[in-house]
Amino acid sequence: MEKIYNFRGENLGSLFENHQSKDIEKCPVCGSTKFILWADCNYTKAHKCEECKLVFMSPQLEKEGLNDYYSNYIGKRRINNLKKMEQRSEQYALDSHVLKKFVNEGKLLDVGCNGGFFLSELGEGFERYGTELDPTAVNYARENYKSFASNIEQGTIEDTNFENEYFDVITMRGVIEHVSDPNESFHHVERLLKKGGYFFVCATPNGESYCADLYRENWNLFHPVQHLWHFSPKNLDIMAARYNLKLIWSETQYLGTPYADPRNDLIKITEKIKNPTDNQISPAFFENMMSLVFKKI
Ligand SMILES: [Zn+2]
Repeated sequence: MEKIYNFRGENLGSLFENHQSKDIEKCPVCGSTKFILWADCNYTKAHKCEECKLVFMSPQLEKEGLNDYYSNYIGKRRINNLKKMEQRSEQYALDSHVLKKFVNEGKLLDVGCNGGFFLSELGEGFERYGTELDPTAVNYARENYKSFASNIEQGTIEDTNFENEYFDVITMRGVIEHVSDPNESFHHVERLLKKGGYFFVCATPNGESYCADLYRENWNLFHPVQHLWHFSPKNLDIMAARYNLKLIWSETQYLGTPYADPRNDLIKITEKIKNPTDNQISPAFFENMMSLVFKKI
């Protein structure tokens, strides 16, 4: 029998059949090897670390498979959905506002900068740089944003050639959950950031949220190929501390975001509690998304 794994309209099974994948043997946050099965997705599974509560996918696609998947990511997620684009723009403004409470000038690197949308929102106060894996998104950023077009590099943070301690601010907006090796990414953040510089993680799913636990694979932020790690403010702090990044602020966002529809969201969640086997996708809700500000010490 053919094994087909269709996830919300995407055939993810073929990705696992056509590309190499690897098992995760130990937790990248705490090193534990004690995991419990959290959700079963046929070709891959979600596990939860018993020690630090990190939720992660294993097996995960190797780089080649991920590159194939992300080769036209911008087209997959933005171009076809006007409402989503508007919501995202509104959220960019909210995230920019948070960052500017801490810092509003200097050299800034946006890792996984997509089409340059968040960089654009951050404005002229910063000297803006970006890295992005998807070549289509890189071209989009270079064509649409002249003020930082020449500062967009194709690749990951590991591929960049910037000098050590070059940046005052590094941002990862909806990125850390996607990276193949979070320890390696943190290492480069530490390397590239000046002492006293800021590292801003935002628009990132919180694996210890109420909806994550209630809905598991039907949590709206769950994705077996894209979201490899579901951190929480607690375990992300444990990891960051290893790289001299001190957590100075964190918040989970819901009310006041363009995704919140409290009355209807609560009705959906009440239905799910009444019918746990119901396969509806979770709504946006309290705790789902997190923002954290770290300072390099
Ligand atoms: Zn752990």
